[in-house]
Amino acid sequence: MMSRVLILISACMYYSGLIRLGRWWTRMLGPHLVILNYHRAAQGDLRRQMLYLRRHYNVLHLKDALQELQTLHKDELRRGYARTPLVLSFDDGYRDNYTYGAQLARELQVPITIFLPPGYIESGRRFWWEEGEHLVADAQVKQAIIEEKLYHLDQVEERKALANAIDQHLCYASSVAEREEFLESIRELLVVSAPITDEEWETLPLSWAEIQAMSENEWVSFGAHTMHHPILSCLADPTELYYEVNECRTVLEQRLKQPIEAFAYPVGGFKHIGEQSPQVVQAAGYKWALTTEDGFNTPKTDPYLLRRVIVDVDQHWLMVAAKASGIWGVFSRLGWKVIKLLWKDAPEPIPFSPPGTLLARKTPVPSDVQPLKK
Ligand SMILES: [Zn+2]
Repeated sequence: MMSRVLILISACMYYSGLIRLGRWWTRMLGPHLVILNYHRAAQGDLRRQMLYLRRHYNVLHLKDALQELQTLHKDELRRGYARTPLVLSFDDGYRDNYTYGAQLARELQVPITIFLPPGYIESGRRFWWEEGEHLVADAQVKQAIIEEKLYHLDQVEERKALANAIDQHLCYASSVAEREEFLESIRELLVVSAPITDEEWETLPLSWAEIQAMSENEWVSFGAHTMHHPILSCLADPTELYYEVNECRTVLEQRLKQPIEAFAYPVGGFKHIGEQSPQVVQAAGYKWALTTEDGFNTPKTDPYLLRRVIVDVDQHWLMVAAKASGIWGVFSRLGWKVIKLLWKDAPEPIPFSPPGTLLARKTPVPSDVQPLKK
């Protein structure tokens, strides 16, 4: 129901000319760079979205787009001689980025940039944000006490609550080791022994062979996304923060035999990045770093705090068009202001941008959850 309403709103924006107005207005304001943030590539309508974006934007690899942002002249945009540069970025390195995304990028000649966490590529294990739901689904016990709370696993609501509690703990772990120990303890507690199933295949990390194959595809470029995808602001040890950022670049450069210049912060909101991370990223030798804070970039945007617009392949292309034009963001912010005026106790919109689509769709983290700061 909600998705139909969102499509209807997007269609109104498109057919009323608002989206076109948004694109024009962005050009009139001067050079801007739009960076879209995807995760999965398959099981949606990426083809239609790419066709639309290719027609109305100058879709480039991140490196080329940032160069274009610095050299683009206001007059070129105003006179319609140039289009706003746009980047399609994919975080996490899901296997369908290879089986579908890269093939589509080549077919439609649309560049994509994929941000990789080498630790997951090495292990081939499920991403941590996919674990909660799988662990609960595969549990061999009828009840469990986790963090002093009893969960009855024969009740749907309690299963959901347990999966959410597991995700929360994994999300805000103060080290990768703590996260992995917690995961192991939950596996033992729930008596989970089920291996990864065939149905999960496309939701698992890419392999080095697949990445190597994509590196020969001129329409695919790569960036770094830490070794093991921790939330950087939660890491208690600065040494681990530096390792996660720096080692990632070293491993990717050794494997791909090409410079890795861009970094994407895991989860990517300001509260997940923390104060130290941009300096650590710069010290590690990266030239640019991407957040998931909503917005467009100008030549004056901090290169270590570049903004992105979160989209998904399961969104209708009209909605992606509205988001890329900036109109969606404007109306979202206006909508919240109106709601706050009419309803003083209205909750704030959830600022958390989940790392994976599973978490995004099924277990959003409430805004009032505090990281386990140590
Ligand atoms: Zn991520």
